[in-house]
Amino acid sequence: MATVTNPAPAQAARLFPRLMDKHGRAITDLRISITDRCNYKCVYCRTGNQGALYSELPLAEYLRMARVFTGLGIEKIRITGGEPLLRHDVVEFVRELSKLRTLDGEPLDLAVTTNGHLLAELAGPLKQAGLRRVTVSMDAVDAERFSKITRVPNGFQAVQAGVRAAKKAGLEPVKINCVLLRGFNDDQLVDFAKFARAEGVVVRFIEFMPLEEDRMWSPEVVVTLDEIVKTISAWKPLVEVPHGASETARRYTFEDGVGEIGIIAPVSHPFCGHCSRVRLTPDGKIRTCLFSVLNHDLAGVMRRSTDEHVADYIRGVVHKKEARHHIGEPGFQPPSRTMVHIGG
Ligand code: SAM
Repeated sequence: MATVTNPAPAQAARLFPRLMDKHGRAITDLRISITDRCNYKCVYCRTGNQGALYSELPLAEYLRMARVFTGLGIEKIRITGGEPLLRHDVVEFVRELSKLRTLDGEPLDLAVTTNGHLLAELAGPLKQAGLRRVTVSMDAVDAERFSKITRVPNGFQAVQAGVRAAKKAGLEPVKINCVLLRGFNDDQLVDFAKFARAEGVVVRFIEFMPLEEDRMWSPEVVVTLDEIVKTISAWKPLVEVPHGASETARRYTFEDGVGEIGIIAPVSHPFCGHCSRVRLTPDGKIRTCLFSVLNHDLAGVMRRSTDEHVADYIRGVVHKKEARHHIGEPGFQPPSRTMVHIGG
């Protein structure tokens, strides 16, 4: 993979003013999906019959995009998918990204979101390559339920080994993301709280959003922030921890300070006003919101343009970022792609 450098910070700041949308939000956070293939078929995400739908770019092309984005003020890059650890050169990709510097001359905050199935082997090499943090998705804390959700046998043991390897490698704090569906895995809530305390990880519950292939979302299936707090507090009282305005998760611990729970509540408590994100799909399209109905063809533009022109294009697209999502409102228009094909 070609080595990249970005312009000296002061020079870059002069060349490309920082990304801002028309609603006054600074955009500092980029998610890059490097594949829409996945080795799990989570029932709330995929139909189970459909595979990847979009082409993948050579990692060098995402790298060029990342370099231009970083020159526009991006400070945090999260690599996602599909399942990002399925790309065999993902460690090399992280190593190249870690050479980029923000406009203030700092290393990027580099993270990966993964289902954790291949993490036991890769946690050490990813850390050595410059990865800072990892988020592992787990929607059950017992092996049988886990395989029903993922439709893969013996995944739970592999993921648990991955979580422990990530901790050992120093990719901390390890965060566990769990999507709750009413009547399906919401009975795992207290067990997840126990898991957070026993494993020393941050468990974050995410409200289910209408982004699945099967289009089975309804407001009734969403387990809301208020319910989550009530259920866990009935077992052991939760104590809220102050969180930054731009943080997506509300944070809680317990009275003895052991274990952290986060709740990401885009449905019941939307945080669009503080959104600082933009996404790149595996085929190199910019999405300015998970719920966009548009995909902007950055890969196409990049192949025929200089970096300066690419930067202008990005600025123009980001400027038009949607003010907010409209989940649950009459006339809600489903997004033009589902989660696995956008990058979560
Ligand atoms: N394969 C990786 C993983 O499992 O983390 C990355 C991709 S996955 C699509 C990213 C995250 O999106 C996972 O935590 C998954 O649970 C979450 N997710 C998928 N569909 C969702 C939905 N409809 N609502 C909320 N979160 C969803």
